[in-house]
Amino acid sequence: YAATGRLPAASEVDGILERARERAFRHHEGKVADYIPALANADPEVFGIAITERNGRVHQLGSYDHAFSIQSISKVFVYALVCEVIGHEAALKTIGVNATGLPFNSVMALELNGGHPLNPMVNAGAIATTSCVPGNSAAERWEFIQSGLSAFAGRPLAMDEDVYRSEALTNQRNQGIARLLNAYGYLKGDSDETVDVYTRQCSLLVDAHDLSVMGATLADGGVNPVTGKRIVGEQVARDALAVMATAGLYERSGEWLVQIGLPGKSGVAGGLLTVAPGKGAVGSYAPRLDEAGNSVRGQVAAAYLSRALGLNLFASS
Ligand code: GLU
Repeated sequence: YAATGRLPAASEVDGILERARERAFRHHEGKVADYIPALANADPEVFGIAITERNGRVHQLGSYDHAFSIQSISKVFVYALVCEVIGHEAALKTIGVNATGLPFNSVMALELNGGHPLNPMVNAGAIATTSCVPGNSAAERWEFIQSGLSAFAGRPLAMDEDVYRSEALTNQRNQGIARLLNAYGYLKGDSDETVDVYTRQCSLLVDAHDLSVMGATLADGGVNPVTGKRIVGEQVARDALAVMATAGLYERSGEWLVQIGLPGKSGVAGGLLTVAPGKGAVGSYAPRLDEAGNSVRGQVAAAYLSRALGLNLFASS
């Protein structure tokens, strides 16, 4: 299928998706995140998966409508929205695009790089990105993000108040990162306010189907294939996919790229987004995580889908 730019017939994709779930369910390892107290309540057995194709066709099974907080996957879309405002060059210069090889909330990565954030997929770069969101107040900046991510999903997204409060009470590390960025002059605006908006964006509720639509919008060059609306420009969509490929799975990003061969982004609630540029995207939810914070079952399903659908970008046939 790789060469045709399309996925196979609908019934065939449905069968392949079913087999991806079977593979995923062979895995019982990993742990539900508990560093944000509210996330520890997640049912480890819930599994939902959805594919949205570039033509808007949807395939989904399991608990594809089970809501969970988007967490780090928000970083991709806030980055795209900010790139749209500040432009490709400024984003490259102020936020960076290089992998850190270190955990998502690493302070060391920031210190080693002279205080300059490394990329928008890890916390320092994501917080710097959120600080670039336009608006005259925190409320306006939050509104920009909430409505922008909703446009990617094609429906209004709401915040999980419990997850937000729980993370706001325990995110001293992110506050520290923001202050450090501020001290080095790489934060636009107030550090506590920026972390508050960042914490809200991580608490937005999505389901696997939403993630697939959001990703398919990037696969479709910035046009939401379900609503038909352009959300960001083509170059911005390409930039966002490139940084996902570089650093979307924390310190396992290289392993992911070699095994799956597609841009991906995980979140600590258990969401995982995999995008096949020009073709579509897979959104999944399975809360047990590996040590780097990536959904175990989500990765197994993505690896199977990439192989079975011939999606690996580096394959010659
Ligand atoms: N809100 C989480 C944090 O910043 C997001 C982490 C993640 O999904 O990687 O700690």
